Amino acid sequence: MDIFKSTESEVRSYCRSFPVVFERSQGEWLYDDQGNAYLDFLSGAGTLNYGHNNRHLKDALLKYIGQDGVTHGLDMHTSAKADFLHAMRSFIFEPRGLNYKIQFTGPTGTNAVEAAMKLARKVTGRTNIISFTNGFHGVSLGALAATGNSHHRGGAGIDMGGITRMPFDGYLGEGIDTTQYLDKALSDASSGVDKPAAVIVETVQGEGGVNAASPEWLRALADVCKRHSILLIVDDIQAGCGRTGKFFSFEDAGIKPDIVTLSKSISGYGLPMAVVLMRPELDQWTPGEHNGTFRGNNLAFVTATATLAHYWSDDVFAKDVERKGRLVSNRLDQMATRHGRGRFDTKGRGMFQGIDCINGDIANAIAKRCFTQGVVIETSGANDQVLKVFCPLTISDDNLKKGLDVIEQSMRAVCQALNKWPQRDEYFVAEDVSA
Ligand SMILES: *Cc1c(COP(=O)(O)O)cnc(C)c1O
Repeated sequence: MDIFKSTESEVRSYCRSFPVVFERSQGEWLYDDQGNAYLDFLSGAGTLNYGHNNRHLKDALLKYIGQDGVTHGLDMHTSAKADFLHAMRSFIFEPRGLNYKIQFTGPTGTNAVEAAMKLARKVTGRTNIISFTNGFHGVSLGALAATGNSHHRGGAGIDMGGITRMPFDGYLGEGIDTTQYLDKALSDASSGVDKPAAVIVETVQGEGGVNAASPEWLRALADVCKRHSILLIVDDIQAGCGRTGKFFSFEDAGIKPDIVTLSKSISGYGLPMAVVLMRPELDQWTPGEHNGTFRGNNLAFVTATATLAHYWSDDVFAKDVERKGRLVSNRLDQMATRHGRGRFDTKGRGMFQGIDCINGDIANAIAKRCFTQGVVIETSGANDQVLKVFCPLTISDDNLKKGLDVIEQSMRAVCQALNKWPQRDEYFVAEDVSA
C-alpha cells in the first residue's frame, strides 16, 4: 500500500474510504489481493450498471480484439461505430419515438457536458445557462461552473461565469414548485437573469444527494423551457442507461429533451465513452469544430452495442430493474421506519436510491461499518449525509438482500453506539422534537 502513499497524488479519494488493493471483479463482486470478497454497492458511481466484467460484453470484446478490430479510430468510420449507431437507432430511439443525432465527444462525462453547453450557446447565440442547486456536471471549468458543490468549485482557482443557479425540485420544501420562480425570472426583464441558452438538469441528482425530481416538476420545467425558447439539456450521465428502470431517466416524465448527455454506463464495461444526443436541427457543428483524440474508443463501442442488443431489445431487463427498485425502496423504507423517521429518510427512484442520514458523520460511520462487513458503499450530498445504494442492476436477488442486510445491521450498530454517546442530543434533539 506504501506505493500509493509515496507516489500517487493526494487528490486520490475513493481509495481512502476503501483502503485495500482490489485485484479482480466479477458481476457484483470485488476481490482484494488478500482474497476477500466485497459486494459492490458503488458500481463505479454508476459506470457498472451491468456489473463487473459482464460475460456477454466480455465475449463480444474478446472476439473483437481477437480479430484485430480497430481500437483507436479518431472519428473515422469503423464497423464498430456503425454497429453502435444502428443499435442506438433500433433498440433505443425508434421504440421511444425519439430522433437524435449522436456526437461522440472525448470519453469522459465532463467532455460530453462541455460539448452540450458549447453547442447550446453556439446555436442560440446566448451565453447564460441555468443549472440547479446540488447539481453535479463534472469538474472541467465549463461543467464545473454548472456544478453546485463548493468543495469541487473551490478547486477551480478562477472565477467561473455563464451560469445562473435555480432551486431544484424540493429545494424550498415540499409543495413549492420551484419552476414557477424560474418562469417568473425569465418573464421579467428586470429579474437580473439573462435569457439563457439552455437549462441543464439531472432528473435524479447523484453526487448532490440522490435528489429525485418529480415527473410533474420535470414536465413543468420542460414547459417553461418551451415557452421561453430555451434548450433543455438532461445530463443523464449517472441516471441514464437503465439506472432508474428505463433506458433514459426522463422517460417516466414523458418529456423529450433537446440535448442529452450520456457517459458512465453507456459502454457498460467501464470503458471510457461519452456521447451527446441532440435534435437534428441543433446539429450545427462545422467539421472538427469540437474535437478530441479519444472520441473513437471502439472497444467501448463494441461493449456498448452488446449492452443494447442484450439488455434493451425488449423490456424484460427494464421490468426486472423496476422490480428490484421496488424491493430496495421497500427495504429502505422499513429500515428508516425502524431506526427513526426524522433520523433517516429515503430518497431516489428505481435502482438509484439512498438513505438520508441527515448527518454526514452518521452516514460515513454506517458506510465505514458496511465496508468492514464486506460491502463497498459511498455517501453523497452536500455534507456526505446520504448513503447511496448503487449496486449493479444485474445483481442477483440473493446478493441484493445480502447487501441490504449488511446496511441494516450497520445502521443498527451505529445507532446503538450513538445512543450510548453522552452528546447524543446534539445529533438527535431536533428530530426527537418533531417525532
Ligand atoms: C459523473 C458525472 C459527470 C462527470 O463525468 P466524468 O466522467 O467524471 O467527467 C457529469 N454529470 C453527471 C450527472 C455525473 O454523474
